[in-house]
Amino acid sequence: DRVHSSVEPYISRDRHAVSMDTAEATAMALGQASGNRLELAGVGKQYDSPGGTVQALADVSFEVSPGEFVCLVGPSGCGKTTLFRIVAGFEQPTTGTVRPERTTEQMNMGIVFQEYHLFPWRTVGGNIRFGMEQLDVAADKQRERTQRLVDLVGLEGFVESYPKSLSGGMKQRVALARALAVDPSLLLMDEPFSAVDAQTRRRLQENILDIHEETQKTVLFVTHDIEEAIKLGDRVVVMEKNPGRIAEVIDIDLSRPRSRTTPAFGDLYERVLDHID
Ligand code: ADP
Repeated sequence: DRVHSSVEPYISRDRHAVSMDTAEATAMALGQASGNRLELAGVGKQYDSPGGTVQALADVSFEVSPGEFVCLVGPSGCGKTTLFRIVAGFEQPTTGTVRPERTTEQMNMGIVFQEYHLFPWRTVGGNIRFGMEQLDVAADKQRERTQRLVDLVGLEGFVESYPKSLSGGMKQRVALARALAVDPSLLLMDEPFSAVDAQTRRRLQENILDIHEETQKTVLFVTHDIEEAIKLGDRVVVMEKNPGRIAEVIDIDLSRPRSRTTPAFGDLYERVLDHID
């Protein structure tokens, strides 16, 4: 309840207008899960809308092991946003289970959204410190950790800057540092690089791989970009739509850095594309 509750409404994704309440604002920066292994078993989600019932997800089951980087890829409408919101604890599945269960006492999921959702009234340092303040981390530890994270994401010299003065890529670096600040056991990323230009996107992709190597975080990364999924993931969960379900789970046994121009990459690309087409 220490979070300011009159945050201006924000748009979570193109068509889902959401008003941010206190719990969601906190969850945004801290997340709400615990444990290292993420397990989804038979997850289904049905929406009742004026036009009838929509089966957004059907029987989705997969696991993300500790330290693993898993990408979830699929076409628009296959239920990526819905699945993300269920894993984040913003929504309940109609059927099935997600473990660890979301509880508000155990806040160690770091979440990064496509549109950053930084706190505009806080500096870069203030944004990064947010979660640590909520957890009453000692002030000197907060300072030390903020500095480490600023270095990790490459924002040296911007600790006192406000989000409005930053580029999209820099804002996403702040969001990533904020998510990592509470040492989350799961880093959940929803199309995090979709709003930046192609060159920035490539740099951020390289950075997230370096950061993953350094921190060994468990990552679930949602994207609609096949190339991005194959470039980043240890495994790729491919989804199809109507209803949203898993088409295939592919182990990506290519060494990094991975190049789209190699035949092996091309083969994987075609294999994913087959499902999405
Ligand atoms: P994606 O993120 O992959 O584009 P979504 O999770 O947004 O997919 O949507 C999956 C399906 O569920 C779509 O058919 C979408 O129209 C429907 N859907 C999503 N959210 C709602 C909602 N709040 N009410 C009704 N239908 C919804």
